[in-house]
Amino acid sequence: MSFNAWLSELNRILVVFVPCILIGLVSGHLDYFFIIGLMIYGLWTARQLVTLKQWLDDGAPVDDAPEYLGIADQHVSSIVDLQKERQANREKLEDLITHYKEMISALPDAVVIMASNGEIKSANQAATNLLQIDPSRDTNTRITQLVRRPAFTDYFSAQKFDQPLEIRGTSDHEPELSIRVIPFGEKKLVLIAQDMSQSARIYEMRRSFISNASHELRTPLTVILGYLETLSIHQAMPEECNTAVKSAEVQAVRMKQLVEDLLTLSRLESTASVVKDTEVIPVATLITDIVEESKLSTWFTDHQISIHLDTDVKLHGDLQEIHSVISNLINNAVKHTEAGSVIKVTWKKSDDGKLQFIVEDNGQGIAPEHLGRLTERFYRVDAGRSREKGGTGLGLSIVKHILERHEAVLEIDSKIGLGSAFICNFPAHRIAKKNKKLNKNNEI
Ligand code: ADP
Repeated sequence: MSFNAWLSELNRILVVFVPCILIGLVSGHLDYFFIIGLMIYGLWTARQLVTLKQWLDDGAPVDDAPEYLGIADQHVSSIVDLQKERQANREKLEDLITHYKEMISALPDAVVIMASNGEIKSANQAATNLLQIDPSRDTNTRITQLVRRPAFTDYFSAQKFDQPLEIRGTSDHEPELSIRVIPFGEKKLVLIAQDMSQSARIYEMRRSFISNASHELRTPLTVILGYLETLSIHQAMPEECNTAVKSAEVQAVRMKQLVEDLLTLSRLESTASVVKDTEVIPVATLITDIVEESKLSTWFTDHQISIHLDTDVKLHGDLQEIHSVISNLINNAVKHTEAGSVIKVTWKKSDDGKLQFIVEDNGQGIAPEHLGRLTERFYRVDAGRSREKGGTGLGLSIVKHILERHEAVLEIDSKIGLGSAFICNFPAHRIAKKNKKLNKNNEI
């Protein structure tokens, strides 16, 4: 307590006791008047305490702070200072919350704050438009009761939020969404949903354009190729014309392959869903057949190709698509390695139960900067060389899409000067169980 506070308290004591003592001395009853002085001082102090308590009970309002409370004055002014500081902080916090709310509500993406069990705590305007969540009505309701799309229910109950969820749109009411859930703070989640309808529409337009253009090109190309084939076997053709026709035929074959690959890719992209267990694929037999076919390729020159079938398990999937994966990888190994290279094709079960189809070669290998881009459409390490060998630059992109549809992952391992390994990892649940019965459509 400050010196001034004690001084003013002493002043009050003097104001009460000096007259009492003087009157006591004059009247000869000093003891009575001293007691009276004590009582007056006691009552005064009690009144001060009651005033202080009432003020504190009222929440210690700054504008209504009691005055002249003697030694309590110092406490009152400290409390007033604290209250002022608290009020300033509260105003700052309110400003911050207002800015934050304005910012969240201005976002075009839906933002929903939830407890870890999915109970909604707050949401912005876009959440009402995209997910039909009304914060005034739906606070404390579980999100899975409001966003009823099955893919979302599965995603939320799996609680694996490391990857975003893409949900296909069915109508304007149910737009195409990309949903991300991010855990934060203590057991809280923020859901961010982005409307992908516009970009999905553009993507679909591009895909259908490529598909239509390829379809349109297919028929005239077949006709041109037919004529070129007829001409090329024509005996009476002069030598220079024969060379030109042969060259045109090679280019037409390449173009036809390109059109076929574009059609395959666009079909795969339009059916991004996982292939159900429709067919039982005898992978080992398929590998043996495709290796034999690859030996007929123009590029198969003294290659030493070996097959290692460590398992005879069959796979559930689409036969034609798996055929395409195997032949693309084996033909790539033949096409992109020098004559006499060693190629090893393996079908095996790994220690953790996964199934692996591996094509390894001891070719020139691929530099690390290319590895991440090889599955992009038209990406080639050496475009000229690839074209020369009839490559379209779409093979690995097709492989990647097919593997995704079979819940499998492509791994590429390559070292310059040592060779490359293309590994397809299929999950164990894709193994066709011997005892499972198929119905007449070959379905389980
Ligand atoms: P392409 O029709 O050119 O073979 P892909 O999509 O199948 O197209 O392959 C993309 C590129 O990856 C190829 O152009 C080639 O540069 C590289 N590549 C693929 N397989 C191999 C391999 N076994 N060894 C070296 N390079 C390869």
